[in-house]
Amino acid sequence: MAKDVLCEVNNCLYWAEGNLCGADQIYVVSSIGDTAAETDDTGCKTFVPAQ
Ligand code: SF4
Repeated sequence: MAKDVLCEVNNCLYWAEGNLCGADQIYVVSSIGDTAAETDDTGCKTFVPAQ
């Protein structure tokens, strides 16, 4: 489990009760390249839609 990661994306395959992330690690990327200007520019690339 990704330690100390809290996540609200409850339709992710790795999401667990209590807003926890069950992935071994997560990969965070920026939507505007390899830098970010604000929080909304970043996102979790490890996300997998739950079935
Ligand atoms: S993999 Fe990313 S989107 Fe999925 S629960 Fe973990 S932090 Fe959230």
